[in-house]
Order: sequence, then C-alpha cells, then structure tokens
Amino acid sequence: MTTFIPFCPNASCIHHRVPEGTYTAYSFLGYYCTKAHGKIPRFICSSCGRTFSAQTFSLSYYLKKAEVFAAIDGRLCNGEGIRAIGRELGQSCASISNRIGRMARNCTAMHEQLTKTAHCTESLAADGFESFCCSQYFPNNIHLLAGRDSQFVFCYDHVTMRRKGRMTETQKQKRADIDRKQQLPVRGIEKSFRRVLDEGIRISHCRDYRKPVELWTDEKQEYRRVLLRGEGIAAQAYLERRLIHRTISSKAARTRDNPLWAVNYLDRELRKDLKEHVRQTVCWGRNVNNQMERLSVYLWHHNYQKPFRIGERGEEGTHSHAQQAGYDKTFIQEWCQKIWTRRVVFTRSEYGELATMTWKRLRMTPLKKSPEYLPLRVAS
Ligand SMILES: [Zn+2]
Repeated sequence: MTTFIPFCPNASCIHHRVPEGTYTAYSFLGYYCTKAHGKIPRFICSSCGRTFSAQTFSLSYYLKKAEVFAAIDGRLCNGEGIRAIGRELGQSCASISNRIGRMARNCTAMHEQLTKTAHCTESLAADGFESFCCSQYFPNNIHLLAGRDSQFVFCYDHVTMRRKGRMTETQKQKRADIDRKQQLPVRGIEKSFRRVLDEGIRISHCRDYRKPVELWTDEKQEYRRVLLRGEGIAAQAYLERRLIHRTISSKAARTRDNPLWAVNYLDRELRKDLKEHVRQTVCWGRNVNNQMERLSVYLWHHNYQKPFRIGERGEEGTHSHAQQAGYDKTFIQEWCQKIWTRRVVFTRSEYGELATMTWKRLRMTPLKKSPEYLPLRVAS
C-alpha cells in the first residue's frame, strides 16, 4: 500500500508549501504500532530532516479512539447537544469538542479556498443573530452575511454585548457587578459588522466593479454608521457608490418576498438546528471559541451539504447552496470527499481575519482570565 505524503510538515522547510502530489524529497523510516490505527509508516524529510508519519496528514492525528467525525457532523447539525452526542458515541464532552475543533478548522479552510475561486453576482443580505454564551448576562450578536438568492453564507462573526431589556433590581445589581469585572468592546457591534462586511465584500464580488453590489440590512443605526465612517473596503465601496445599501424594517413580514429572507431563514434554521441556540435551552455555550467552531461546522453543512431547496412533494434538491451561488461542483465534491479524513495545515495557505480568529481561537470568552490554550500543532 502506498501512503500519500502531500508536503513536509515543517513550516520553515522549502517543501512545506509545495502543491499536493509534487513532494518527493522524503524517505521511509520504519513503522510504529497503534491500537487505534494499526501499523503507521514513518518518514523523514531529506531537505530539513523533520520526521513525520502518515498520521501527520490525517484529521485523526494524535487520536486514540475511532474516528467519529461524520457522526458528529450529522448529530451536531440536527439539534443534539454535546453531552448527548458524547453519550451516543461513547466519548466525553471534551473529546467531542476536540473533534469539532478539528472539523471546524477543515471547514474553515475549505470555505476560504472555495471563496477564492470565483466571485458571484447576487445581492447580499446581512443581519445579527442574537444568542448568548456563558450566561444570559452575556448576550451576543452573530453577524451573518449571505447571498440574497442562494442563501450561501459568505462570512460570520461574533460579538459579546452588554445585557439589555427589562430586569429585576437583583438582576440589575448583578449586571453592575459583572460590568466591574468584565470590559466589553466599545462599539462592538459596529466593529464586528465591519469585519463581516469587509471580508464579505472582499471574498464575494466587489472586486468586479462593473455592477454595483446591493446590500440589504434592517434599519439598525450601527450598520449605517459603519458605511458612513469611511473605514475599510466596504465603506470605501459605499462612498464610491459601488456598494448600494438598502434597508427594510425588521418588523416587516418574514416572508419569501422580504429582501432579508436569506438571513431570516438562517436565523430560523440556527434556532432550530443548533442546540445551544434553541429558546430556553439548558445546553447553552460556555466558551465563545467553541461556540464559533460549532457554528463553522454547521454553516459548512448548510453551505455545502444541505440541498438548496426541498421540492413541493418533499424530495430534496440535487445541488447545494454553494452551487446555487455559482461555485464549482467538482471543487466542492473533491473537498467534501476528504473533509473528515485529511488534515489541513494553517501555514500552507493564507487566511482572512475571521477565519484566523476561528482557527486560532482568538475570540474573548466573558469572565475568562487567561488566553485560550492553543496547541502548537493547531497554529502550525
Ligand atoms: Zn522538510
């Protein structure tokens, strides 16, 4: 049996960024045996001397138990909580979260690479999905930017907000205590929306300036302020009238005729399919970065696996939201075939700001004092 060795895993080696299938500067260095994966061949790079094995390029690297990635994907995206998934698959919550982290990095990589291949031509719709993490004292806004017709999600970001709305005196006191302990970002919604918009415009179609791009949002003042402030790719495009901002009241009927239907639909699906976002859930997220990893896997599932439409008689459509947005079917299929087997390495490609934040777990979890633990093998 021949083992496919795509590149040298040493980030400073000249063979690290070579195209897959062209790396031959390595030699065989024996085997080691594992209970989970059997006999694994080892290799050494003849250029830099780094040793590695076939497992180095597998999504199950370092894992001591059978691979359950596909089972986790199916269960996570259909309303199961982490503990329920772990119970069914015979693994702990920490193990399931670890695997979701690996899956999220692959999903992020596929999304980044696919969105570099083409620019689509449809209008965009953006909105903030409200949920919470840690406790109801830390509501958050998950900004989503999607194609108006295809419902393909181009990018998404997270921001923690200060609790608002009606509260009892005790709750107000508790919020004041939390305010003293936790500094939340100033103008967080604007900053997060700007990140999403800049990234979305960069990867969607604004480089092709022949036709202005239409962006639909609700009437939230923060969205308009981001565009009027003049900072960033999207605001610049707006000032030069290459981006047209249109608004509609958030109270308008949420029908298919509503220009925000794509994001309204996503709101509904997220609320239904991801256990942590279900109303009155007891399975809420405890860590912002874990929450975003689960969201990355879910949105990958939405973009590349879920059929675009269900027919009148209930039959599922044959193409995904990504294909509806104009992305190449072969490219998607090639990636999907290896998504739960091949490990993607961060240093082999360029990533945008939002993908880097998800990959390197850079988002802040409320009341968490230390930075996120990030194994060296994840960042490289
Ligand atoms: Zn090397």
